[in-house]
Amino acid sequence: YLAKEKSSDEVEWFDWHADIQPNPFVLEQEMVTGLKQRQFFLLYQPQVHLRSKVLLGFEALLRWRHPRWGIISPMVFLEVAEKSGFIIQLGEWMLTQAMREMGKLTAEQGYYLSVNLSMRQFYQQHLPELILHIAQETGFQLSQLTLEVTETMLGHPEQAARQLQDLHQLGVRVSLDDFGTGYSSLSRISHYPLQELKIDRTFVQQIGTEKGDALVKTIINLARHLDLDVVAEGIEKPQQLRFLRRHYCQAGQGFLFAPPLSLDDLKNLIRS
Ligand code: C2E
Ligand code: MG
Ligand code: MG
Ligand code: MG
Repeated sequence: YLAKEKSSDEVEWFDWHADIQPNPFVLEQEMVTGLKQRQFFLLYQPQVHLRSKVLLGFEALLRWRHPRWGIISPMVFLEVAEKSGFIIQLGEWMLTQAMREMGKLTAEQGYYLSVNLSMRQFYQQHLPELILHIAQETGFQLSQLTLEVTETMLGHPEQAARQLQDLHQLGVRVSLDDFGTGYSSLSRISHYPLQELKIDRTFVQQIGTEKGDALVKTIINLARHLDLDVVAEGIEKPQQLRFLRRHYCQAGQGFLFAPPLSLDDLKNLIRS
């Protein structure tokens, strides 16, 4: 995986195909060591109000700086972490780190912090207690937190509904990420306590084609009917931005505005 994005402080991404293909067992061992040795870190991608370009918040995105392999995308290691169960530890670290780094900024300036949950993490019984605990430890205001879940994660409808209800009680927002790429029943979605839909990047990329335009319009309308906020991801072109604005998509993120940034770069951006 060679990720296309590069924020200013990042070195080259590791090219898996050019060198070794570590097997899952090796990857797992390296992750365990990596967490102990603080090789993981977070980048934050700005989310903006599309009409005014005002900064609304940011999505925390996980990275791994391996001493020999370089910077590794979550697409490479999350699946292994999920299968082995290591994601539970990694996810707890990520939540703590994000709330610690962003606590002050979000409280003082009203920004939202979005974090991605993995399947196992979402179904962890004590996730609501864990989040509450981390918020208390770090001084993070839970009204500023958005949890991103995907449709595929809602595959166990009863358990999912219960967990979403418990999370909702904490006062956090819940966003349905990569919307349209999974298989979820629309009637079910309308019954979950959700606050936001994210339009997947693959749809945003199709804006400008007849099919793409129709799909994106449909998702925006659906969000409006369900009374959900809508965020478009992967906006790269002015033409995509114009289309989204014209059809009343409120918010978005993408390289057109900013790539995922280090904490320092983000603070500089906010200051300027
Ligand atoms: P996602 O949540 O849908 O995140 C959006 C992805 O699109 C990010 O990739 C981001 O860097 C990328 N992106 C943003 N703007 C653009 C753009 O304009 N063009 C293009 N081509 N790409 C753009 P990233 O950071 O590699 O993350 C990939 C996926 O990994 C995420 O998809 C999310 O599902 C997962 N992930 C990332 N961080 C975490 C985490 O801390 N925990 C969990 N459980 N999953 C995570
Ligand atoms: Mg996301
Ligand atoms: Mg997404
Ligand atoms: Mg996506």
